[in-house]
Amino acid sequence: MLNSESLNKVLENKIISLEEALQVYQEAKVNPTELFSTAQKLRERFKGNTVTFSKKAFFNVINMCKDTCTYCTYKAEPGEEKLSLMSKNDVKQMLKLAKKYHCVEALFVTGERPEAKYQEAREWLAQNGFKSTPEYLAHISEMALDEGLFPHTNAGNLTFDEMKELQKTNVSMGLMLENSSERLAQKGMPHYLAASKRPKARLEVLENSGKLKIPMTTGILVGIGETPAEVIESIFAIKKLHDKYGNIQEVILQNFQPKEDTMMSQYPSANENYFKTIVALSRIIMPEMNIQIPPNLSPKSYHSFLSVGINDWGGISPLTPDYVNPEFAWPEIKKIDENSKKAGYDLKCRFPIYPEFFSFVSKELRDKMSLIEDEERLVREEYWR
Ligand code: SF4
Repeated sequence: MLNSESLNKVLENKIISLEEALQVYQEAKVNPTELFSTAQKLRERFKGNTVTFSKKAFFNVINMCKDTCTYCTYKAEPGEEKLSLMSKNDVKQMLKLAKKYHCVEALFVTGERPEAKYQEAREWLAQNGFKSTPEYLAHISEMALDEGLFPHTNAGNLTFDEMKELQKTNVSMGLMLENSSERLAQKGMPHYLAASKRPKARLEVLENSGKLKIPMTTGILVGIGETPAEVIESIFAIKKLHDKYGNIQEVILQNFQPKEDTMMSQYPSANENYFKTIVALSRIIMPEMNIQIPPNLSPKSYHSFLSVGINDWGGISPLTPDYVNPEFAWPEIKKIDENSKKAGYDLKCRFPIYPEFFSFVSKELRDKMSLIEDEERLVREEYWR
């Protein structure tokens, strides 16, 4: 099938197959114009002229991690300057500040099961009165709700029961698939020393989130040595989960940027045209999905991604750094607003859960959200601006 035939098929609301998507990729390598314009048309059909973001504070709860990914600069060893161990009091102070800044989301991030490897992590938990990181996360999630913020936890591979517990307080949760290829976990590859990043393990957690009906954010890290086929297969793996459970609320496409203190420091950042092609392909594979790129990782050109299919900028903090990409400051919300407007889009603030998924959460959480919610089920403009 010719590229244009596959793209027309998508415009007629028909599903594109993996083989067709691979073919579209091959042809788009030579000339991506038609792919980009199709992605754009679908984006307008399903998302109108709105682009959303979540106004958040990033809580770097604990950044010790039992795994090692060769691109990661977030993880810290005991004694390192960048080590973060937030006490209940630290969390409380930060929540109060976040409320002052009218943040909506409390993003709770940890390394992968720190207490499984580090005595220091076990002591930190004991000092705060807990045995495990997920137990502590459940507690601080309640604290966030009490302060009027909405928790979204990203703590790696949690068990079914841990997620079930966190579901009571978290309006959504996050876990990057990264890539569905086993090859990237082989010797010499980025996930060789990260058991939690094995696709089978990640997909199982995402399956469990589906069984629990948790609105889930997932995504792919683009440019870490994958083949185009592997990244396209990863998009299809996410689609398959969503077709089965209907709980994937958003797909993040994150472009790899090398970090100085990592094993991949000399590796090139993801090529922008390649990245845009993957973004546009994601839109044609999942036309109705919420698709996000982090604007801080494409600081000069993020607004140009509005014309290849994205409809969200993810969490932006006016208060805290992006601890996962500390050298890439988030653009000011005002600037993102201006640049979105110039490209023809209205910037609106959403909750860490997208409106389509509100029925997934409890009445208690919905009641709390309704205090700052507008008629579009987004955050009232006078609250976040
Ligand atoms: S990316 Fe996550 S799992 Fe990998 S080393 Fe960093 S904190 Fe650990």
